[in-house]
Amino acid sequence: MADWMAFNVADYVANTLHLTTRQHGGYILLICAAWNGKGFLPGTDEGLRAIAKLSPREWKDDGPALKAFLTKRGEAWVHERVEFEWNDAQSLIAAKSRAGAAGGRAKWAGRAQGRAHAETRAQRLAAARAIGTHTAEEWIALVNICGGKCVACDSAAKVVKDHIKPIYQGGSDSIDNLQPLCSSCNSSKGPDATDRRPPDWRERLAECLADARQTAAPTPLPSPRPVTTTSSVANSAPHGASHTPRSQLIPDDFEPSEADLAALRKERPDLVGELYAQRMADFRDWCRATAARSFSPVSTWRGFMRKTKTGAVAGETWDQRRIRLIEEAIR
Ligand SMILES: [Zn+2]
Repeated sequence: MADWMAFNVADYVANTLHLTTRQHGGYILLICAAWNGKGFLPGTDEGLRAIAKLSPREWKDDGPALKAFLTKRGEAWVHERVEFEWNDAQSLIAAKSRAGAAGGRAKWAGRAQGRAHAETRAQRLAAARAIGTHTAEEWIALVNICGGKCVACDSAAKVVKDHIKPIYQGGSDSIDNLQPLCSSCNSSKGPDATDRRPPDWRERLAECLADARQTAAPTPLPSPRPVTTTSSVANSAPHGASHTPRSQLIPDDFEPSEADLAALRKERPDLVGELYAQRMADFRDWCRATAARSFSPVSTWRGFMRKTKTGAVAGETWDQRRIRLIEEAIR
């Protein structure tokens, strides 16, 4: 767990203009406790009051102003901004760890303290791998079995490996504990450990792998990616033209062809000039940060570009965008 937290001073000041100094004290203590709880706080007034170090009398006066920053979720109170930052920190840590493991490729937007935390993540991953590991083939087959998309929201955006039981809770790195989620669902899943894979994924995976083993030399696949379905696997002749799906690392300097760009602009004529340049820079950052792989880099690129928010302001800083995303998420 990260022991540092992104704290947006301007946001904090703007959101707390109405607080007294005593309330500020209580609020900061609640924020720190929420950080340690991945965004979660006790569900009772007594629990909150103890954290805020206020007397019952003081809590009576200050409690409502402090609780106004929190959202009730089930039994617990949640500080959604802290929850977002916590998850965001985990993504950054994971991204750094992946980037580091891939041989020190370009650095993810400056988080100077990331290295130590990447080590923590790497240690956790090592522990998870000691419990169980998976092969690239298993993962690719599983993604295909899940339709090549996020199992939580059906988004066709690039998926990432979600450890169903999080590795910080002792989850393993075996295929049993992995499911594809889009980055957005992955970073907002919190303590949810729901297995969203199709119920017959295990049988289908076994079939896919058996089929792949019968193909002596894996052939590179044409794009766009084929989705291997159970029936196509079952129906393909043992020595027929079956494929092992292969994803490839999206190159750092990915450039769409003129035709691809023209196709995109048919859908999104607004993606020109500075907005386009900024979005391309985002795409490359994201590829580097996540060591993104794809069956079809062009499709991945197109999906990413399509998701550019119409309201996105050219020149919006990383922080401004994060705030906008938080506000959208909370709304
Ligand atoms: Zn999703």
